[in-house]
Amino acid sequence: MTFAATVLTLYPDMFPGPLGQSMAGRALGDGLWSLDTVQIRDFAEGRHRNVDDTPAGGGAGMVMRADVLARACDHALAARPQAPLLYMSPRGAPLTQHRVRTLAAGPGVSLLCGRFEGVDQRLLDARPIEEVSVGDYILSGGEMAALVLLDACIRLVPGVMGAAASGEDESFENGLLEYPQYTRPSEWEGRTVPEVLRSGDHARISAWRQRQSEEQTRLRRPDLWERHTGARAQSPSGARREKQEEDEA
Ligand code: SAH
Repeated sequence: MTFAATVLTLYPDMFPGPLGQSMAGRALGDGLWSLDTVQIRDFAEGRHRNVDDTPAGGGAGMVMRADVLARACDHALAARPQAPLLYMSPRGAPLTQHRVRTLAAGPGVSLLCGRFEGVDQRLLDARPIEEVSVGDYILSGGEMAALVLLDACIRLVPGVMGAAASGEDESFENGLLEYPQYTRPSEWEGRTVPEVLRSGDHARISAWRQRQSEEQTRLRRPDLWERHTGARAQSPSGARREKQEEDEA
């Protein structure tokens, strides 16, 4: 099974870009995921092949045309009917590790990358398109956001990550931030690796890491901590994961 990514963009040369390197690049070469880019301009008509026009009602910038984008989207939907079509958008639902896991377990994704002031609303109303944001800031185009989403998905595609376990106790996977990590040398600039990590006592190490995870989450991300403790209070039997999934759904 491979994860098929289709990217609709005015800048296909931006792909695979950084995803052609390292783990994702090797996996692409090994056929664990595939990448198709679709040049949106190929679906424009006329001598100038315009993909954008001035905003109705006035204002700065340009807006991507619904008719051109619809043809590009219909092409992607026909080519990959099983893959969800996502529009990278600052107005979308914030991307979470839970959503990434769900996407990575599926057949792939088709990603529409906006430019200029974004896309004509009628496209989003007329096609089965889900809007996804990579954070509360504005990028100049959806391509970087698409690379972020794809990177997060690809590392979870079976066979991509070296040690299968290494994805599991990372930040967000259990609703907590990760504990601090250390490696050799055991002393650097007078700072030592915490004694417990050198003790070889696995139970103690694991208890220390759990405590650190909780402490770091409480201090750095009160929003996550509140959700974590709320979920734990409601279901001491370990149904925490379910609660979290509900919250994120
Ligand atoms: N005028 C829009 C921003 C347009 S930015 C607004 O204020 O909401 C141009 C394009 O970059 C968008 O169409 C979108 O595809 C992409 N983009 C910008 N910020 C993004 C974000 N935080 N997450 C995902 N995509 C983003």
